[in-house]
Amino acid sequence: MEEILNFIGGKFIPSSSGQRIDNLTPATGEVYSRIPRSEAVDVAMAVAAAESAQPAWAALSRVARSAWLERIAESLESRIEEIAMAESRDTGKPVSLALDVDGARSVNNFRFFGKILLERQQETYQMSNATNHVIDKPIGVVGLITPWNLPLYLLSWKIAPALAMGNTVVAKPSELTPMTAYLLCKILADVGLPAGVVNIVHGYGTECGAALVAHPKVGAISFTGGTDTGRAVAASAAPMFKKLSLELGGKNATIILEDADLDQAVAGAARAAFMNQGQVCLCGSRIFIADSIRQEFTQRFVEHVENMVVGDPSLEDTEFGSLVSHEHRDKVESYIELAKQEGGTILTGGAHPKLDSRLDSGSFLLPTIIDELAVDSRCSSEEIFGPVVTLHGFSSDDEVIGFANNTEYGLAGSVWTTDLGRGRAMAEAIESGMVWVNCWLHRDLRVPFGGTKNSGVGREGGQRSLAFYSEAMNICILDD
Ligand code: NAD
Repeated sequence: MEEILNFIGGKFIPSSSGQRIDNLTPATGEVYSRIPRSEAVDVAMAVAAAESAQPAWAALSRVARSAWLERIAESLESRIEEIAMAESRDTGKPVSLALDVDGARSVNNFRFFGKILLERQQETYQMSNATNHVIDKPIGVVGLITPWNLPLYLLSWKIAPALAMGNTVVAKPSELTPMTAYLLCKILADVGLPAGVVNIVHGYGTECGAALVAHPKVGAISFTGGTDTGRAVAASAAPMFKKLSLELGGKNATIILEDADLDQAVAGAARAAFMNQGQVCLCGSRIFIADSIRQEFTQRFVEHVENMVVGDPSLEDTEFGSLVSHEHRDKVESYIELAKQEGGTILTGGAHPKLDSRLDSGSFLLPTIIDELAVDSRCSSEEIFGPVVTLHGFSSDDEVIGFANNTEYGLAGSVWTTDLGRGRAMAEAIESGMVWVNCWLHRDLRVPFGGTKNSGVGREGGQRSLAFYSEAMNICILDD
């Protein structure tokens, strides 16, 4: 049984109370490690360590901080297989996905932010008799809170730009998937990152996470997670006027126009629906299909999904693994039951797969396609965050834009068409932070990432992340 520890001031330590929380692997249900059940007192220690490390970290040149990020990237890269296996074991996702996304992209996050830090331009504005110099100052200590679906990827997406801008960090990973954050701490210790620059505390959201948000010395909070939790985080942080970035839930539309290349659209819609067992905030969980191609698309889509390799996440050819927990699977299954009551027809899935007996206690659920639900049914408008998609027809561009926008969320979407002008126009009409045309999750780290409506507040990505993790200050100097 591995004991995961907090990483505070460069030391690995248990929670002050000595209490722990079991951590299990969702594919088998086996408890294989434990995390500290940290509370406000542990968070306070981590914030104090971050505060005392911050001036020296901020005093380093950009070149020196960039070099630290590159050192971390290199060390992570040298252990990428170990990271991928750990992430797969902790989350239930296929190891191939963990390698491509959680492993490779985490390396890339450190490398990328180290690079663009050096490209960041300082603004100057000349007046007739004075010059304005806009400078970036670090915020100080920043708090980072992350969910279970892309654990190391989202953690590194926040840690790297925060460090780049001269802040020190206290992070709280999801209590369901703590392992790669712990491995990252080992890497930080190995490369000799100065003590206190990164601190990681484990525990429940309402105890440890809430204490981090409420701590008066934490100047900014970057939170990724559910919309209801985001609301609680905002309510706690707002009276202290902390900088706040909220990346929340989604109910994204995949729109298949009648002129789409069907081979591309079927494969793309399936990937968008079921990557990571449908547990990506950007997943396209509502598929709108032009009436004239609805029958053909549906038949090919169901066939494609039924051919996906479902099973043991640790095997290389597995395409679809386990959900993150029994509790989460129960929630997803309750939506499938609701869909039946709402008049939906299950075209495929809706049941547990038959797998090796070793996986009997795993949290598996087949990819599920539901047809014939009204567009405003609960299943078609609430975030399920699992392997469930609903199919809907439409007869005109205006109608499908109305359907796509008929949701409290506004995170992402995709449009599939061979008419790129029409695709672009439709993308612009969708109320969301990001829309892909003829692709999905095609990520360039320089572009804005985030959502509108109840999907969040603010944008991260590229220079926007660097701006979020800093205070812009203007110095106006009157000319001689
Ligand atoms: P969650 O909101 O339950 O938890 C997220 C994190 O917040 C966890 O670390 C949790 O411990 C912590 N937390 C819980 N209560 C808290 C509180 N009161 N104060 C402070 N922290 C608290 O979300 P989850 O179930 O881990 O993740 C799934 C959700 O995340 C989905 O809604 C998904 O759409 C969303 N998500 C969004 C994005 C995005 O970029 N928009 C990315 C990934 C996931």
